[in-house]
Amino acid sequence: MSECEGLTALVTGGASGIGRATAELLARRGARVAVLDLDPSTVGEPLTAHRADVTDDASVRAAVAAALGELGGLDILVNNAGIGARGTVESNSDAEWHHVFDVNVLGMVRTARACLPALRASAHAAVVNTCSVAATAGLPQRALYSATKGAVHALTLAMAADHVHEGIRVNCVNPGTVDTPWIGRLLDAADDPAAERAALEARQPTGRLVTAAEVAAAIAYLAGPLSGATTGTALAVDGGMQGL
Ligand code: NAD
Repeated sequence: MSECEGLTALVTGGASGIGRATAELLARRGARVAVLDLDPSTVGEPLTAHRADVTDDASVRAAVAAALGELGGLDILVNNAGIGARGTVESNSDAEWHHVFDVNVLGMVRTARACLPALRASAHAAVVNTCSVAATAGLPQRALYSATKGAVHALTLAMAADHVHEGIRVNCVNPGTVDTPWIGRLLDAADDPAAERAALEARQPTGRLVTAAEVAAAIAYLAGPLSGATTGTALAVDGGMQGL
């Protein structure tokens, strides 16, 4: 498929999991793709990679400038870098709340701010934010993480309203539990990884984890020209968690 032929894309958190699958899919569909990540050492052709910490505005600005210089412009921003957090309002400290909001919410704000001038110059501009079913599902032990993703959901709608008249579409995907290195780390840390995996699988009506490829396909749809009439939406890729 070549529906992204001639387009350029930037994917944050693109060295692993959902971001990596998305960057590779956009490239297979014809886009030229740059990845921004804390650790881009595993990223190679046809992707280009730039080191950036989304909690550091100067780092984001420098990496975006370098990537856009290579790409020669920007049509697609996939705001995907994010981290998890386990706990309740009692168990997570203020420092943890500030840090996870800094990565998951402000990281997207900083990256979008750095990319908007280039997106305004594009005839096919699209932003896709990686949100989560946690934004709306009320999951136990995920107060902090869910609050960040609720903010990403609201940010997506507000950005869609702010930039629709500039020709920039803004949408998000809301994945359920996705089989990525992140979930691998979570299972490794569990007392009984097999039981934890079974519990995560059972939480989704389809009875299995979502694949990174399935989320990447949803992001690529929202990023590409075939979704040209879609802005301000959240596309669930959650094995039926929210709808059933
Ligand atoms: P992952 O850990 O496999 O990949 C995340 C990537 O983000 C890594 O390459 C990491 O280096 C990068 N990153 C982390 N902090 C960064 C920072 N400060 N600056 C730059 N890069 C940074 O995780 P994943 O499962 O692919 O998750 C990607 C996104 O999907 C996240 O936003 C996450 O909240 C969301 N999500 C994941 C799941 C899931 O079950 N895996 C479900 C719903 C939503």
